[in-house]
Amino acid sequence: MDLKKIKKISFAVNAVILVLVLGLMAFFIMSDVTFLVYFSIPTIMVYIVGFFLIHKEKLLTYVRLIFTWLTLYMCVTTVCLGHSYGFHLYCFSVIPISFITEYMGYKIHSKHIKALYFSLGMAALAVMSTAYVTYFGPVYEREQKYAAIFWLMNSVSVLGFLIFYTNYLIHAIISSEEKLNEIAMVDRLTGLYNRHYMISCLDKMNTDYNSACLAMADIDDFKKINDFYGHNAGDLVLEKVSEKMKSVCSGCTVSRWGGEEFLILIPRSVSDPEKLMEDLRSDIAGEKISFEESEITVTITAGMAKRQDGQSIDKWIQTVDSKLYDGKHSGKNRIVS
Ligand code: GH3
Ligand code: MG
Ligand code: MG
Repeated sequence: MDLKKIKKISFAVNAVILVLVLGLMAFFIMSDVTFLVYFSIPTIMVYIVGFFLIHKEKLLTYVRLIFTWLTLYMCVTTVCLGHSYGFHLYCFSVIPISFITEYMGYKIHSKHIKALYFSLGMAALAVMSTAYVTYFGPVYEREQKYAAIFWLMNSVSVLGFLIFYTNYLIHAIISSEEKLNEIAMVDRLTGLYNRHYMISCLDKMNTDYNSACLAMADIDDFKKINDFYGHNAGDLVLEKVSEKMKSVCSGCTVSRWGGEEFLILIPRSVSDPEKLMEDLRSDIAGEKISFEESEITVTITAGMAKRQDGQSIDKWIQTVDSKLYDGKHSGKNRIVS
């Protein structure tokens, strides 16, 4: 969320509250609650000043002013009319809003309110004003039918807000957790799992993987591709080779182990792992990758091995790595098993 969007939302919220204040003022005039009629005048001024502060991008001053005034408004209306009107319920929605405001301020790297202190202050004042009217009674005793209407409106809006707000918050947390998990697991360029994820996957391997196969593949003469066509071409080759690996080895765990090196965990459900790797090698060698005016062909070399009984993961990786080394020294573009 950027500053422009926050300004727009603030304008809209300020306008809605101003309309509500005007509506309430009309009710106070009708019900002859003189003090609240007079109190509505500075309240209206506060929201008009609010528009100016938003326009001047003085959002912290705006937020402090509005939250302070809302707290005051809630206490004054409660003391004047009693808690049967439900004005004190505002704190149940204003407190969560103050935390969102703090978060928004943090997101746009600007100074923000301390929602915790504000909330404690508002909660204390809400308790004090309701305790006062419970003990001494409201300043103005008015018809209970109005109280019932206000109680209904205030409680429905506060409860509705809390339900939608909590629902929104939980979904925002889930989606941000999913994004973070993806960032932590997946290599950005190729979309394959990264080394970190692959290590945790190998560490967690259960008995189903006892006769699994591991393959370490490496693009041949990749440095020459970078030197000849440029780094962007190298990146495109990595992307295309990775796409091929994902489609050919669809049941496997494929990771980018390093620069142009890939570690592939082939589960035992794959009946012929050697054939799978051979298919992968020939598919990659047979594809022409278009880059600008050129067509690039690439090959891979891979070493592969089944896990021996009792073999550690490190030893297993070393084994496939040394087979890859053998492949590189016996002409490249081959699978050594
Ligand atoms: P060999 O056939 O023996 O594997 O030779 P090679 O040239 O493929 O291997 P070498 O290790 O000499 O070079 C690997 C190159 O890969 C060097 C490095 O700059 C490049 N590289 C590593 N990561 C990336 C990347 O993300 N993008 C690009 N474009 N190049 C990368
Ligand atoms: Mg290489
Ligand atoms: Mg390499």
